[in-house]
Amino acid sequence: MTPTADRAAVGFDLDMTLVDSRPVSRRALECLVEEHGHDLDVEMLMAAYGLPLSQWLAPGTDSELFRALQQQDVSDVVAMPGAFTAVDAARQAGHRVVVVTAAPSALAATMLQAVGLRVDVLRADVWAAGKVQPLRDERCWAFIGDHADDMQAARDAGTIAIGVSSGTSPPYGADVDLGSLERFPAWLISQEAANARPT
Ligand SMILES: [Mg+2]
Repeated sequence: MTPTADRAAVGFDLDMTLVDSRPVSRRALECLVEEHGHDLDVEMLMAAYGLPLSQWLAPGTDSELFRALQQQDVSDVVAMPGAFTAVDAARQAGHRVVVVTAAPSALAATMLQAVGLRVDVLRADVWAAGKVQPLRDERCWAFIGDHADDMQAARDAGTIAIGVSSGTSPPYGADVDLGSLERFPAWLISQEAANARPT
């Protein structure tokens, strides 16, 4: 597949792809344990970071309180290595930058603002197969993520599934496994060169 006028956006997953929110979530978990009496194994949870909240937090955990605590410490979020150059590369190649994420809209927007990443479209509160329709709606040509569910959604949406290995589980099912987001600009240039070549 090549970029066309109909497919002129690059989609990015947010957490563990563009930003690392582990410091934010670790602090929120510690607060749940220390100040709200929840019985949670913080280390075990952090080792499995990246699952949707409904599968990650034990039943009975106050997920709304967890989200509120995340929001409170959101300034601890950091950009992943290569995030700025990847977004710039997509934009310079003429693509809109679309973020498709499981995070709630307000939290996702605040995280992007906290690290200073500017995106064109934010589609929040969707995960796994829920990402397919936003990728189609936004006419994404490629989708970059850190989880196998991102790769499946990308393929189901008819986009190129680009994996990065910055999450806690490998991006199985990737069409292209870049390892690091830092490799995205060079990969994008190679695609443009291939597309420009006479056939
Ligand atoms: Mg992710």
